[in-house]
Amino acid sequence: MCEFCIKHGEGKKWYLQMKNYAEELLHEELSSAQKDIVKAKTRLEWNLRFFENFTMAADSRFSKTQDESEDTPSSSETSEVQRTEHEILEERKVIHFGQVLPIEDVEKVIDMVDSITRMPCGCRFISTGKTDKRYCFGLGVDKWGILGKFPDAASSLEVLDKKEVKRIFREYDNEGLIHSIWTGVTPYVIGLCNCDRDCMAYKLYIEKVGTPYFFRAEYICQIDWDLCTGCKSCMSQCQFGAQFYSSALSKVYIDPSRCFGCGLCRATCPNDAIKLVPRHKEPEAADIWLRNVPR
Ligand code: SF4
Ligand code: SF4
Ligand code: SF4
Repeated sequence: MCEFCIKHGEGKKWYLQMKNYAEELLHEELSSAQKDIVKAKTRLEWNLRFFENFTMAADSRFSKTQDESEDTPSSSETSEVQRTEHEILEERKVIHFGQVLPIEDVEKVIDMVDSITRMPCGCRFISTGKTDKRYCFGLGVDKWGILGKFPDAASSLEVLDKKEVKRIFREYDNEGLIHSIWTGVTPYVIGLCNCDRDCMAYKLYIEKVGTPYFFRAEYICQIDWDLCTGCKSCMSQCQFGAQFYSSALSKVYIDPSRCFGCGLCRATCPNDAIKLVPRHKEPEAADIWLRNVPR
């Protein structure tokens, strides 16, 4: 289990613990150490600031320039130049951190919450300037969800029913968008994301091999070579460089030390040869949660 499961999961996966979605967490006064790091007295204060500066900045009607935006992966990166990677990482884990989720666990999360709101994608606004990308889904345990907390933004937010959200996530799964879950002052869970290479966290962490923004999933994928015909369809789906082709064997191999467990490669396999297995069952992957291995 990842560090968040140990600290915040009480024997379960941390994102499947109802207490981490509780409204009380939003209003509770933060410790002085947390206040110093997040620059807010409560989680609500931080989340409102994040929502206004990052999420709503990506909506053309509320749009700020990128220079005005705070709490974004890119702005925090530049202010972090003087600190060690360990210090940056530990602060990120307190403020806003994610974990990759396969579709099965996304669906469990959707079943747990009462309200799901589709929102503009702050990263794609920063990386592409586009204001019409809506791949973020805010979660709430009351029927008012995100809308109740941010009534001024109601016109640009879509509250969707669970069946529709599951349909959309399955569609994104087939398209190869990586699902992830995020905290807004840990362990409070704020939302589910669907990311590609325009994601700022992906760019800075995976592409540039920078300080991590998210944990790997609690799983990895493995290929059954009795079923694999070596068609290579799965290889185009992997955004983490975890798959290799053996021309001698005409098979694809998943390197457990590189696999982030997104599970996306399964959707393209015509032979159902790829299986998701718990990370802890594969010794080569069991203790790897953060490190990105450059190719
Ligand atoms: S994490 Fe993904 S979906 Fe969320 S804002 Fe960034 S790119 Fe968009
Ligand atoms: S090999 Fe691992 S990281 Fe790559 S797509 Fe499959 S599950 Fe995701
Ligand atoms: S898509 Fe399936 S059959 Fe094709 S190479 Fe990948 S694991 Fe093998």
